[in-house]
Amino acid sequence: ATDFGIEKALKALGVKDINEGTSTGSNNFSSGDVIESISPVNGKLIAKVKTTTKADYEKVMDAATAAFPIWRAMPAPQRGEIVRQFGNKLRELKEPLGRLVSFEMGKSLQEGYGEVQEMIDICDFAVGLSRQLNGQTMPSERPGHVMREQWHSLGVVGIISAFNFPVAVWAWNTALAWVCGDVCVWKASEKTPLCSIACQNIIAGVLKDNNLPEGISCIINGDYKVGEMMTTDTRIPLISATGSTRMGRIVGVTVAERFGKSLLELGGNNAIIITPTADLKVVVPGAVFGAVGTAGQRCTSTRRLIIHESVYDKVRDAIVGAYKQLTIGNPLDEKNHIGPLIDKDAVNAYLSAIERAKAEGGTVLVEGGVVEGEGYESGCYVKPAIIEAENHYEIVQHETFAPVLYLMKYSGDVENAIDKQNGVAQGLSSAIMTNEMKEAEKFLSFAGSDCGIANVNIGTSGAEIGGAFGGEKETGGGRESGSDAWKVYMRRQTNTVNYSDELPLAQGIKFDL
Ligand code: NAD
Repeated sequence: ATDFGIEKALKALGVKDINEGTSTGSNNFSSGDVIESISPVNGKLIAKVKTTTKADYEKVMDAATAAFPIWRAMPAPQRGEIVRQFGNKLRELKEPLGRLVSFEMGKSLQEGYGEVQEMIDICDFAVGLSRQLNGQTMPSERPGHVMREQWHSLGVVGIISAFNFPVAVWAWNTALAWVCGDVCVWKASEKTPLCSIACQNIIAGVLKDNNLPEGISCIINGDYKVGEMMTTDTRIPLISATGSTRMGRIVGVTVAERFGKSLLELGGNNAIIITPTADLKVVVPGAVFGAVGTAGQRCTSTRRLIIHESVYDKVRDAIVGAYKQLTIGNPLDEKNHIGPLIDKDAVNAYLSAIERAKAEGGTVLVEGGVVEGEGYESGCYVKPAIIEAENHYEIVQHETFAPVLYLMKYSGDVENAIDKQNGVAQGLSSAIMTNEMKEAEKFLSFAGSDCGIANVNIGTSGAEIGGAFGGEKETGGGRESGSDAWKVYMRRQTNTVNYSDELPLAQGIKFDL
């Protein structure tokens, strides 16, 4: 890792590179097998990371459970002050951390910086929230009684995250969980372990400066087996897991079996409906960024365009034309639009999706394929593909985590397009492009999009932290980030207090002694 400024970035973040030994993260508990972090940008090893054994995990849990009573006893606004300091450290380290995200995961440098900005934004949100963890009061039906609810800290929150947002998803969870008085244990994706080590080093410094135990924030390293240590652990009341539907199906059941709570953020199959009045100036950049941004590796990436037959040819030609201008290459070079997929497995999944779409009758409009030659040695760079397809094709019903865009027609009313949009198992993000107020409102109504996110005249990806983020159906039902998503990180307690000298019973029940 001697080029692209990555060596300097690793130094600034306190992460060892390949020449300096094996990284574990500041809590230093990991002593297991080694995993290699290989950059999809150039296919080279960046650093080695030690994984967490069962014995290491027990040490981490001891640190976390010991830190919890100290942390929850701190007034929430003081916890907010720690999160404010963490946000400021992120401001200082936005360049190296954004660069590491880009190099380890393969997204563009702009998007790498964007992820760190998202962390900063959620810290700011959490600081304000630390003074607004408000409960309600309710009128009691009994004389001389009051009722209210309070929100209390939960305990140790387990965070499992996916490779595609290697730092922001953790921050969405942990910044809120911290102000709520919880301590967190994070297992990042085994494909992006250095990002989690860098983040751990940053928060560890802030905690040390404030004489607080590092157990407030812990990381564990490794694959799903390390994740399972948390999902089966009754000491962890909440597991927040982001990743594939396949993973969520297992994690959801495992956590439910022990009556834990889970917050699931799983796969999407997001569509944009393009109506006859849609403005092409908005449609083309919205659809193209949605489909090829992050090389199609966002949970909110645009997978399907559902286009009215009267404008189909015009929209298709404009999108196909725009694809001709896209440049594929090193994501750290800002002139490129599309970086690599995460690894060769992802490339194979992409290739087989294209073959399956063809076998089911799809027509390829923009040819895909692996890019070869100088600068593409990692073997992870692919061409974004466009395929005319039908919504019912099995491959269209599945999320392929790559830049494959399916185009399909609808005729008649917008209801027909909404049926197609809803006609998949996933329910994350959706959008409509229209200048017809009635169409837009129908799409947003109870009879419209069934997704957690429904947009008008913007694409499916690129959410802001202020809103609750997440989706329905096989996307898992969880909500993170803004609005009142914080409530999942706390336990609700209803209190009834009697300040009278009598003991009237609810519902007027008589019980005379
Ligand atoms: P993945 O499911 O392969 O892995 C995600 C994480 O889960 C990893 O840390 C992995 O080690 C862990 N894991 C897997 N099986 C586990 C098990 N049985 N027990 C405990 N932990 C387990 O997903 P990925 O390839 O890293 O990420 C891509 C997927 O994530 C896509 O489907 C994408 O849509 C989804 N995603 C969803 C959101 C959202 O907010 N809805 C955000 C980002 C990514």
